[in-house]
Amino acid sequence: MTEVRFCKECLMISTRPRIEFDEDGVCNACRWAKAKKNNLVDWAKRNEELELLIEKTGKSKGFDIVCPVSGGKDSSYVAYMLKKKGLNFLMVTLQPPLPHEIGLKNLEESIKRGGDHIRITPNFEAGRRMAKKMLIERGMPLWAWTASVQTAIFRVAVLFKIPMVMFGEEGETEYGGSRKLENKITYDVNESIGLYLSGHDPVEIAKSLGIDEREMYWWQYPTKEEISELGLSVMHWSYFEDWNPYRNYLTSKEHMGLAESPVRSIGTYNNFAQTDTKLYDLHTYLMFLKFGFGRCTQDVCIDIRRGAITRKQGINLIKAYDGEYPEPYIKDYLEYFQMSAEEFDAVLDKWVNKDILVKHEGRWNKKFEIE
Ligand SMILES: [Zn+2]
Repeated sequence: MTEVRFCKECLMISTRPRIEFDEDGVCNACRWAKAKKNNLVDWAKRNEELELLIEKTGKSKGFDIVCPVSGGKDSSYVAYMLKKKGLNFLMVTLQPPLPHEIGLKNLEESIKRGGDHIRITPNFEAGRRMAKKMLIERGMPLWAWTASVQTAIFRVAVLFKIPMVMFGEEGETEYGGSRKLENKITYDVNESIGLYLSGHDPVEIAKSLGIDEREMYWWQYPTKEEISELGLSVMHWSYFEDWNPYRNYLTSKEHMGLAESPVRSIGTYNNFAQTDTKLYDLHTYLMFLKFGFGRCTQDVCIDIRRGAITRKQGINLIKAYDGEYPEPYIKDYLEYFQMSAEEFDAVLDKWVNKDILVKHEGRWNKKFEIE
């Protein structure tokens, strides 16, 4: 049987991959949030580390830093902050499949305000086939795209000889998961594979599908030699400043042209987060099927940690929205994965943790109480 318990501070569930609870039953994200609130993180020292790094790499005639952007509130915020810092940055977007209209519009707006930008569309068919395989065999429909956001960004840095990369937040530290990068300024290829590619190698997956390795250009990291010759530092902005998604939203709205979606996102109560691709809606639905927590739980935990809602309000929101079936996008999914509705439903059902969920009138519901 799967053991289910909840963080005593937020409502994160023990089934979340890599999450750590302390002896008081508090998750690592809440422990980290508390450390920040109690001024136990030396931001001045961390910023000094960044300044030293900038000094060391020197402001060249080219770009100082790569800023991966999706047009969402978080990456737009980081671009805004890098601009404020006076860095000459190159914004890079990995085009996701099945984009939301609002995501595309927001990207255009942030490009207008940010500066130089390139958009990379990795081989669509190779990505589609890998996404299908990862959906069927791992329940991870978003993996092919999120993997490319790592591999291609490393690659762009090496290609353009840009010595620094600044991603947004380190998700494991901020939202629950591994504590490996909590106090670490940069991360390397091995950490990238372990934490953000779930340990899978895109080239191996492509090989098993008979995809030509030459179609995998953007899914391959540069070599160790290329990375060390450049002296590449890949970082997260959340290492240098208290990460606050709601502040990012407000700032990006004010300065980067960010607009909300006209409707709330599937499976949650807000309308301004993760609006890049419809595959994200499927990703969080599968998260619900596999681990018993959905997109609403994620959002509720962020809002509890920033003190915007109580734990009790959070429970009510989770009861209302968590695990909602992504009905409006099913047609898009069937087309993209080239599957019949029956095949698709059978794949979803295969990933259900039946210890914790039960089917009722065709939809999966939690067997357990949130407390
Ligand atoms: Zn927690």
